[in-house]
Formats: sequence, structure tokens, C-alpha cells
Amino acid sequence: MSQDLIGVVNAGSSSLKFSVYAGDECLLNGQVDGIGVRPAAKAKTGAGEALPPPDLSAMPPTTPGEALVALLPWLQDWLAGRTLAAIGHRVVHGGPKYAAPARVTPALIEELEAFVPLAPLHQPHNLSPIRTALERNPGLPQVACFDTAFHRSIPEVAQLFALPYEMAERGIRRYGFHGLSYEYIASVLPRAAPEIAGGRVVVAHLGNGASLCALRAGRSMATTMGFSALDGLPMGTRCGQLDPAVVLHLMTTEGMDAKAVEGVLYRQSGMLGLSGISSDFRDLLESDAPRARLAIEVFVHQVARNVASLAGAMGGLDGLVFTAGVGENAVAIRDAVCRACAWMGVELDEAANAARGPRITTRRSRVAAYVIPTDENLMIARHTRALVA
Ligand code: ADP
Repeated sequence: MSQDLIGVVNAGSSSLKFSVYAGDECLLNGQVDGIGVRPAAKAKTGAGEALPPPDLSAMPPTTPGEALVALLPWLQDWLAGRTLAAIGHRVVHGGPKYAAPARVTPALIEELEAFVPLAPLHQPHNLSPIRTALERNPGLPQVACFDTAFHRSIPEVAQLFALPYEMAERGIRRYGFHGLSYEYIASVLPRAAPEIAGGRVVVAHLGNGASLCALRAGRSMATTMGFSALDGLPMGTRCGQLDPAVVLHLMTTEGMDAKAVEGVLYRQSGMLGLSGISSDFRDLLESDAPRARLAIEVFVHQVARNVASLAGAMGGLDGLVFTAGVGENAVAIRDAVCRACAWMGVELDEAANAARGPRITTRRSRVAAYVIPTDENLMIARHTRALVA
């Protein structure tokens, strides 16, 4: 059973990423970008060797569901007679109900449709390949793995906005995201960082999207993202936490409509908006432009401030873990965040940080900081295998 092949699908608005796992081993990784515009595919083995990519020219996909269909002949060739035992999908929103992955049925898809208004930029794209796969191959087990599920352990006081309570009953509350990444980190902590695994740990998932999660003995107690993936830290192009009066001001005084405000908050803000140069931290770290430096300073300020906020929610801090694109690779960002957290007992070991740790604090540091690579796809593969076994 453990060597059954599991497919993993992670669909976004214009891209579809897919992988195949045997046990915990990744055999295949692929990606279709530019869906609906100029679709292009690439693929590599789990070890990173490039493979001849699927040819999409005969039927250029306009949705992630069509991209999955367009990939199938290529995938059949690659499988060479083997079959997938199941497909696991990343789904951004499981609403207030789902605290664990769920087996896909027509009824589940209908239920997940109801969460589209909560995540209009992601949920429809996540559901499109699920629906397509169910229509084409109803016998193939599929599993939906939610980015919100891991955070359902957050106490109600940390989930509520101080809005009229009926609004919480209508679903307007903090959900939290990046849950598959945090769950993966929580699953490896006992082996990777045993001295902090049972304690109070802030995990910093710093990528193009960025958030922090407070883990107590491996369970989520609070997180910086809230009702949507817009809240919390500033990101590549998203603003992060914002006084809601700014939105009112943009609409009433500056006359922007909801679509225009959405564009500002999701696509023109964050590192791109502050720097005017790029949303990519590599570009900003290489740049001498004052606003590139300013953008990084704002980011570091917010990360450090929110680490303290989450430590406050847990009554203290034993560990800090950096993960995702920026957290795993940007030595200078980790350096600056750790220094800004020195007052909480984080004592950086510069050489260890430059060598990417895994432990990047000194032996006498009261708080242990680590660099631990995340793996959301592996988490999806494990959940899928467990649920269909
Ligand atoms: P997502 O999955 O949210 O798209 P990732 O976790 O892959 O994002 O992170 C992508 C980001 O990581 C890039 O935008 C880039 O800014 C940053 N990044 C990747 N490598 C480096 C590096 N060597 N130094 C600094 N930043 C990096």
C-alpha cells in the first residue's frame, strides 16, 4: 500500500502545480503557468532533472480544470502502465467546519462552493480541477486538504473579530491560512528541533505570501492571517494588516470602487508597492535603491512585531522557525528578524545563520531559532494516502 502512487494538485488562478509521490518520495513535479493567457508547462523528476514537458498546443487550457485534462495524456505516458491510487488537492478554504482533510464527493464540492465568497480569488480555481477529475473518473478517490484546517484548534477568543457577534455566526471570523505548511513543520519538529517541539514556537512562513503561526505543543493557537490571506504581514504584493478606515477613505474620499481597492490591496501593495521595484525579495536585497531598503525594513519590523504579538498570545516564546522561500533562503532577513527579537531571548549565531542552520542561535540563547524547509505537497500526499487507505 505504501508504494501506491498519489497525485497532488495545487491549482491557483493562472497556474496548476502537480506532483506524484510514492510513500514520502516525490517522483514527479510539474507546473502549467499562464493558464488562460499563454499556457506553458514544465516538468522534472523528484530529484530535479528536467523532463520533456507536456505539449499543450493542441488544446490550450483556459481554466485549471482544463489544464488537468490537457496534462492527462502526458501523465499516462509517464506512468507507463501504473495508475494513481488517489489525488490530493490543496483547497484554500474549509470554512469553520473542516478541521481535517475530507474525501471528495459531489456533496462536498457543493459545500465547498459555499466558501467561494470567503476566498473568491482562490477557491474557484482550487475546485475546478476537483470537479473535472470527478466528472472524468468518478472511481478515482480524491481528497481535499484545506489551508484553514490546521487553525481550527485556535481558541475562540483568538478567532473572533470584535464585530457584532451575529457576523461571526455568518462566518466573518479569523480562519488563518498556510495551514498545510504549519502542519508539516509541526510534524517534523519533534525530530528536527526536539528541545522546542513541546513548547511555545512561532513559525514564520515567509514566502511570496507570508504569515506567522503560534504553535503550542504542535497545535495552532493563533496566526497572523485572518478572514482572508490579506491580513497580517506585508507580502510580495499584498498589504497585510491595515486600518479598515483606509478602505473607507479610498472609497468615499478618493472615489475608488471595490474592484479598484481590491487591486491595490492584493496586487499593488506589499514589497512591490513600497519599493516601486519588485515583489521579489531577491531583487530588493540586491538593490541599492532607498525604497528597496525601506520595503525590507517595513517587512522586518512587522515580522518582529508580530512574533512578539504571538508570543504574547502564548504567554512566552521557546522557539522560532523560519520557512518558505524567504525564510529558508534570505540570510539577511533572518539576521534582521532575530536581532529585532533579541529582547525576547533570541541570540543569533551569525555563522550558523549564514550556513542555513538548521539551528541559527547560540547554545546559550534562551529562544532556539531554526531554519526548516517546508513541504506542503508532501503533507497533502500523506493526508491523501491516510484517508484512502
Ligand atoms: P509562494 O509559495 O508563496 O509563491 P515561496 O515560498 O516559493 O512563495 O517564496 C517565494 C519568494 O521567496 C520569492 O518571491 C523570493 O522573494 C523569495 N526567495 C527565494 N529565494 C530567495 C533567496 N535566495 N533570497 C531571498 N529571497 C528569496
